[in-house]
Amino acid sequence: MSKTIAINAGSSSLKWQLYQMPEETVIAKGLIERIGLPESVSTVSFDGDKHVTVKNIHNHTEAVAILMNDLKNLNIIAHFSEITGTGHRVVAGGELFKASVLITNEVAKQIEDLSDLAPLHNPANVAGIYAFCALLPEATHVAVFDTAFHATMPAVAYRYPMPNDYYDKYAVRKYGAHGTSHMYVAQKAADYLGKAPEDLKLITAHIGNGVSLTAIDGGQSVDTSMGFTPLAGVMMGTRTGELDASIIPYIMAKTGITDVAEVIDIFNKKSGLAGVSEMSSDMRDIISARDAGDEKASLAFDMFVNRIQKFIGQYLAVLNGADALIFTAGIGENSDVVRQAVVDGLSWFGLDIDESKNVFGADGIISTPEAKVKVLVIPTDEELVIARDVEKFKAQA
Ligand code: ADP
Repeated sequence: MSKTIAINAGSSSLKWQLYQMPEETVIAKGLIERIGLPESVSTVSFDGDKHVTVKNIHNHTEAVAILMNDLKNLNIIAHFSEITGTGHRVVAGGELFKASVLITNEVAKQIEDLSDLAPLHNPANVAGIYAFCALLPEATHVAVFDTAFHATMPAVAYRYPMPNDYYDKYAVRKYGAHGTSHMYVAQKAADYLGKAPEDLKLITAHIGNGVSLTAIDGGQSVDTSMGFTPLAGVMMGTRTGELDASIIPYIMAKTGITDVAEVIDIFNKKSGLAGVSEMSSDMRDIISARDAGDEKASLAFDMFVNRIQKFIGQYLAVLNGADALIFTAGIGENSDVVRQAVVDGLSWFGLDIDESKNVFGADGIISTPEAKVKVLVIPTDEELVIARDVEKFKAQA
């Protein structure tokens, strides 16, 4: 009997899931929000109930202490020592981390040093790591990187066409993100298709608030839409996705914004669906408003679908054809409307959805039997991948 906790620490939040391993049973899960803000909220879901506490939580160290005490007070664990492993999602692993690693002081420091690549995420990830290492000194602590799955990309995909010095001296290149999710759904897709991952060419579409698509050849990521940071690629809930860099100085000159970081912040947090619709970053709101005749929401929806279709087109070219397209994450898993709209424009490539299978709650193949490129819906499970990686390290300990 051993328990492992999977942790996803954001700048003001901490999501967690506690597993019984090796059974892979979820014992409890929860979310702490508004860390560092007044009235932080901790929610623990356990045994069919939701326990919500509101109090001021100043930092991640406090958040972890509160979470661990909640686990005890709710009798989910009797002693801290029952948790023998912690797995931490780390957004940026740079060129240093190409696979999950056992956390040492040096590793924690290296993750901190990579904060330039994910300024909002890596410092929070490290704060979570330090807090758990302090509270559970005997446990196995593992870092699982969002970028690791993309370490197999060839230079032709990850290099930017700019002077070599920027890569050689400063490691400016495509790193990608959502790697754990792309890897998980690709493996599941191989199961559904009854083939070995080595024999498949797949395009995985992680479409949530953040959106990224990946071209996977023989089980390996060969290209992905996010770039040096998650700002790149397709249009997202609040991010622009790719655009012409010349727009940045132009907007600064026209608007009087003097700090380039402010423009990047607008491109990260106030653009995408939210920027174009001027009403919401949430796809459910966009679809309702579009259906009610809102033109801005309608344009936002169409642009969102168009950008996804264009990346699928790119990856059909990169892979020279594909066996399957996989939809996952909040929108990809739940929105039959978005899936249909995306695939509708791609019939020439051999994609075709069976409308009776493209329903809410779909899990598995949703294409027609004749479709040359199969279409699947697969709920992602990044926490499970993290918990499994921790188990591998526990076994080596
Ligand atoms: P994150 O990237 O923050 O993890 P998620 O993967 O949870 O995001 O996805 C959030 C998105 O999923 C939101 O835009 C939300 O509107 C969308 N979503 C969730 N359920 C549905 C649904 N039934 N129909 C359309 N969109 C949905």
